[in-house]
Amino acid sequence: MDLTAATSQLKLSSSLSQSSSYDLASVNMDTNSVAGSISDTDTDINEANEQERDWWLRKDSLGLSFLDINERRLPLIIARDTSFNQFAKRVNNDRRFFDYQHGTVTIIELPSGDHESANSKLGYLFNKGVDNNTTPQDGVEAWGSKSLYTNLVTRRFDEPDKCYIPRRLLNPQIAAQHPCDQGGNPWPTIVFEVACSETLQHVKNKINDVWLAPNRCEDVIVIKLGRWMRRRHNTTTRRPLRHMRCLKFCRTATLQQNPNATSFDAIEEIEFGSVFSNGMESFFCDGPHMKWLTIDCSCIYAGCQQPIPSFHAVVSSQPLPQPQGPPQPQGPPQPQVPYPLQGPGIAIDLYDLQQSIFLAMGPN
Ligand SMILES: [Zn+2]
Repeated sequence: MDLTAATSQLKLSSSLSQSSSYDLASVNMDTNSVAGSISDTDTDINEANEQERDWWLRKDSLGLSFLDINERRLPLIIARDTSFNQFAKRVNNDRRFFDYQHGTVTIIELPSGDHESANSKLGYLFNKGVDNNTTPQDGVEAWGSKSLYTNLVTRRFDEPDKCYIPRRLLNPQIAAQHPCDQGGNPWPTIVFEVACSETLQHVKNKINDVWLAPNRCEDVIVIKLGRWMRRRHNTTTRRPLRHMRCLKFCRTATLQQNPNATSFDAIEEIEFGSVFSNGMESFFCDGPHMKWLTIDCSCIYAGCQQPIPSFHAVVSSQPLPQPQGPPQPQGPPQPQVPYPLQGPGIAIDLYDLQQSIFLAMGPN
């Protein structure tokens, strides 16, 4: 194993013995197991030390990136007995990196390179796929990590990593029945969340409590990146030892399977680059066109009047090969549907996302 780059991480994990490091504890060694059986990282919550508490209390301190904090300290309780208003004022545009529960403020994520690059790349690919395949009036508005109000009276809000709304849903003349902001706009239909330090359980709670609560969003796409295990690589392929998963939550699909469902679990889980702690590569995606994230038109345009736009958008840095051979002699001509898609929608090549994440992680 390549341990040359491990020094910085090992220095910082001096309080963890080798055996209790949760990197290893959480790794599923059975590489033949199905993707769904990879356990989420189970982690202790840390309390802020004096320096971290000071950072929170300083009125002039800037964004999270200015807090000199190691990701391994996360989740980190930074303050207690804080009112939501105090919290909202303090976090400013960084709401999405914090959890707020009953006065307790916890930092759950940092704007790290891999987190931010996964977030912007996924958003870029989605935006590109939709807008290149629709008329301008049928495109989507990128709302980024806009504050979305779960209670307009108490002014409680949450922020996703990214969200999108079809332009068709935006009507400056008529306020939405279930608005997400003071302006009377409806909720976005598509939400993206990237979780590196943030646990999968925390994202799932947020999805169920906030994004997929009644009359809100339709699909939530989660990119869950596990810890980079001791900054090691597979010796041969040089790929980092890390779990990389894309999970799709869809309100309609869940309710179609079970009309009485009261909570939402992922309807799809796609590994797109996991390398296990023993260096074994499993379900790997080592080239374009191997792993796809698909989002249906019916989900993007949820709540829009019929007929909704219908397109088959395939987004990949490598164009799909055109079908070869003579046309099928028997039967009526079939519409050509690109293979990653079963119906109208967008397919995003997860290889492109993986490559951006690897680049952001750097050579060491
Ligand atoms: Zn959906």
